[in-house]
This record gives sequence, structure tokens and C-alpha cells, in this order.
Amino acid sequence: MKNNLSNIKKAIKYLDKNQCIGIPTETVYGIAANAYSSVATSKIYRLKKRPKNNPLIVHYFNLELLKKDCEINKIFLKLYKKFSPGPISYILKLKRNSLISKNVTNGKKTLAVRFPSHPITRNLLKRLNYPLAAPSANISTKISPVSKKDVKDEFGKNLEFILDGDQSKIGIESTIVNIVKKPQVLRLGGISKEQIKKCLNLNLIYKKKTKAIYPGQGKTHYSPYIKLRLNTKNVNKNEALILINKRKNRSKNYFYLSKNKNLKEAAKNLYKTLRIIKKRKFKSIAVEKIPNNGFGEVINDRLKRASYFK
Ligand code: AMP
Ligand code: MG
Repeated sequence: MKNNLSNIKKAIKYLDKNQCIGIPTETVYGIAANAYSSVATSKIYRLKKRPKNNPLIVHYFNLELLKKDCEINKIFLKLYKKFSPGPISYILKLKRNSLISKNVTNGKKTLAVRFPSHPITRNLLKRLNYPLAAPSANISTKISPVSKKDVKDEFGKNLEFILDGDQSKIGIESTIVNIVKKPQVLRLGGISKEQIKKCLNLNLIYKKKTKAIYPGQGKTHYSPYIKLRLNTKNVNKNEALILINKRKNRSKNYFYLSKNKNLKEAAKNLYKTLRIIKKRKFKSIAVEKIPNNGFGEVINDRLKRASYFK
């Protein structure tokens, strides 16, 4: 991990010139650009091949800076105090005089915001005079990146600069919670529904099947573009098998997310493992049943979406 000032300064130079750069976060790596600039943010969509109607999450250093762009409320403050900086994104009302580019919101009156905890990205955010729009640094619908190398694999020469921050500690995207009206979880992620519920002491809405208005909630996503079979015990010949429990026998086709059902560890290893399986050119993946609680629910959510492609 190279948290030295010269790299941060280099990053700032690119960003100030309206260029995109790769940034490490505790969830996954992001592709970042000045959220106030239409020139810069349009490059994110182009590089990611992301549909224009899929709004971006904006990353802030702290509350004070956020207040320039968004209306905040009591529910937000409760969650912010408990979970930020960290793997949770909030949908808030955008202020009328906000400078956020219309590209970021797709013209909406709401904004998704997050306060990442990764020390390098915090160091960067602290030194900028604009927040960073930063979706995951992968080509749209593909596997999210959890290391500098993954980002390189996605964009090659099209992305000149990536800040190195080692492997993402959480390895799965942020939880998105809409708190404009009644609190509603829009995407499962690094903070569980139960943690949020406990903090708010309120009913929390979560609909598993939302209309695919926002592509993060859409069908194919997080996908290795390899056939996936879920909840299975048996593996076919030449098929990769994803496991969370140690097996007695060994096989080159076994890929462990965890060896002792540690679901947090399994989530962290999910995208990395899918990438390895893809590199080894497997044509099909079987996945052992993963309990649908805690991080298991998030893993199942991602695998389900990853399995949709035809
Ligand atoms: P990503 O940037 O790839 O982590 O995905 C961000 C997710 O946040 C996408 O699913 C977006 O659709 C969702 N999102 C961003 N802004 C909003 C918003 N204003 N309202 C609802 N969802 C949003
Ligand atoms: Mg994404």
C-alpha cells in the first residue's frame, strides 16, 4: 500500500484535468472523477460502457462538504454517526444550488452519497475541493474489481492512473439505503439490514425484486459471463466448484471462498475467485449452498445476478 503524498498529488493532477482515475476503497475499487464536472463524469460512463440512466455514487470526505450538495435529516445523522466512514451509501435530497453535474444524477432530484473509509482515498478526498463520483471500476455488468490489478485488467491503457491500496477489505459493494422517505434498502452490501434496523429502531423496507430502474438492482450484473449453477453439491467434469466448507478430498476445480463457513471472509473472496475461475477458462461454475444470513445474503444476491446472463 503506497499512501505517499507523491501518488496522491499525481492523482489530484489527473482529477484536476477532468481525467478519471482508479481509487481503492474498502468495498471495491472505484473509477473516480470530479463530480462537479460534466466533462469528467461523462468519461466515467464512456469508459465503463455504463447506461446514462444509471446514476453514480458521490464520495465525500466529511459531513461539512456534503452539506453543500444535499439536504440532511435525522435518520441520516443517526446512520452517519454509526456507520460512516464505511460501506454504506445514502440516497439524499439534492440541494437546488448544488454543483453536482447532471450526468451524475441522470437529472434526478436525489443523490447517492458515501464516505469511504480507505485511508488512501480519504487522504485524497481531504485534499480536493470537489467530491468524487466513483462507481465500481469495472465494465458495466461485469465482475467488480478488488485490487489495482483487477482495475488494470478491466480498462488497460484506457485508464492511465490507479492509486494502489491493496486488496479491498470488504470486497463487496456498499449497502444503499434510501432515506429521502421511509428508510428502504435498495442494495444489500457491506452493512447488514439488521445493523441498520438496530441503529434506527425503525421498520426497514427491502424488496428483493425491485423494478430494474437502477442497474445495480437490475438483472445481469457482477457477472463473469460463465454459466453458474447455484445451491449444488455436485460438480461436473471440467466445472469449477465454489465452496465455503473444507472438503476432505482435493481437486484443481475447487475454489474456496472460506474453509470454515466464515461468510464475511467468503464475501471478501467472491469477486477475486470469480476472476480466477474466468482466467482459468472454465465454462461452467457450480456453487455450494450458502446460508442466506448476514454476508451470506449479500453473496447470494450477487451470485443470483451473476447467474442471469444468457
Ligand atoms: P455502483 O456505482 O456501480 O456501485 O452502483 C451504484 C448504484 O447506486 C446503482 O445501482 C445506482 O443505480 C444506485 N443509485 C445511484 N444514485 C441513485 C439514486 N439517486 N437513487 C437510487 N439509486 C441510486
Ligand atoms: Mg457497480
